[in-house]
Amino acid sequence: YDDVVEKIDYVFKVVVIGDSAVGKTQILSRFAKNEFCLDSKSTIGVEFQTKTVTINAKLIKAQIWDTAGQERYRAVTSAYYRGALGAMLVYDITKRQSFEHVARWLEELRAHADSSIVIMLVGNKGDLVEQRMVATEDAVEFAEEQGLFFSETSALSGDNVESAFLKLLEEINGVVS
Ligand code: GDP
Repeated sequence: YDDVVEKIDYVFKVVVIGDSAVGKTQILSRFAKNEFCLDSKSTIGVEFQTKTVTINAKLIKAQIWDTAGQERYRAVTSAYYRGALGAMLVYDITKRQSFEHVARWLEELRAHADSSIVIMLVGNKGDLVEQRMVATEDAVEFAEEQGLFFSETSALSGDNVESAFLKLLEEINGVVS
């Protein structure tokens, strides 16, 4: 479908980062295809997906990159970050450690990405309410300190996934135009 859409005003590269198994791939397929895949990694080798959205009467193609499992080997290279205008930094609300590692991912971004990159901190797996290990307020406070946008999502139910991406894309649009 993307191929028949003409007159793209902008292409925005967005990277999805965060610890392994926090739901990066599922968030991306929820946004790009409105799918949640029950069998695990079907995306090995796929580098990015695209979705075209309209923001302020501009046709914007979001080109969203997935690490495709490379984060397991700490092999996310600077090529991955090159040209990225936005980042979705994902943790799992049921895995305290994935939230504690957010600071490390921010260092990665600051070392490799453009300083004007727009960052959305995303607490995923919001559907697993009984297993929550990271309080929303802790993440809100951290995001404020660090100047990040923040959202809690569920790739499984779809809650807030689209709004988080749209907010990020709107903010990028504000930076570039
Ligand atoms: P990645 O390694 O960060 O790309 O994580 P994946 O997208 O492969 O997801 C890791 C696991 O978490 C898989 O078993 C997913 O089905 C599951 N998962 C991802 N998002 C959610 C979610 O929002 N809710 C629940 N309950 N499980 C999720």
